[in-house]
Amino acid sequence: MKSKILLSVKDFPKGTGTTQNYPIDQKIPSPDPSIFQLSKNLSGKVTLTKLTKLYIASFHLKTQFLLPCSRCNKPTKKEIELKFKQEYKPPDIKKDGIDILPVIFEELILLLPSKILCQESCQGLCAVCGKDLNTGKCACKQIKKSPFEKLKKLKIKK
Ligand SMILES: [Zn+2]
Ligand SMILES: [Zn+2]
Repeated sequence: MKSKILLSVKDFPKGTGTTQNYPIDQKIPSPDPSIFQLSKNLSGKVTLTKLTKLYIASFHLKTQFLLPCSRCNKPTKKEIELKFKQEYKPPDIKKDGIDILPVIFEELILLLPSKILCQESCQGLCAVCGKDLNTGKCACKQIKKSPFEKLKKLKIKK
């Protein structure tokens, strides 16, 4: 079954401009674990405000990404906050409520860091043997050459 987070609007206070709070505290699955995983519940609250023909949802949630370190691949946690607003109109307002999970996934993808480090000084993995250099040096000769160094050599040969 496809997962959802439904906000029921059945007992919503009558009138325009009325609001209702929905506390959230639940584990949500990653739509694709190769993109991201979460190591904490999604928690916080969503406030719905009813206008004439639509609802405005204000999200104030937090959770924690579990992502591989960009240098050594060690699973690394990163706290994140989701603060945004979203409009809901029919047909998004269904009989059983408003499903807010799709927009939460979109927001999570926007918040994905392009780079994450387990620690600022992470040494990464040896390019030759793959050893985690945070746990000590390996036996390989450390020949760290940047592509620019190769270019320099080419110029010298001329
Ligand atoms: Zn690392
Ligand atoms: Zn090595």
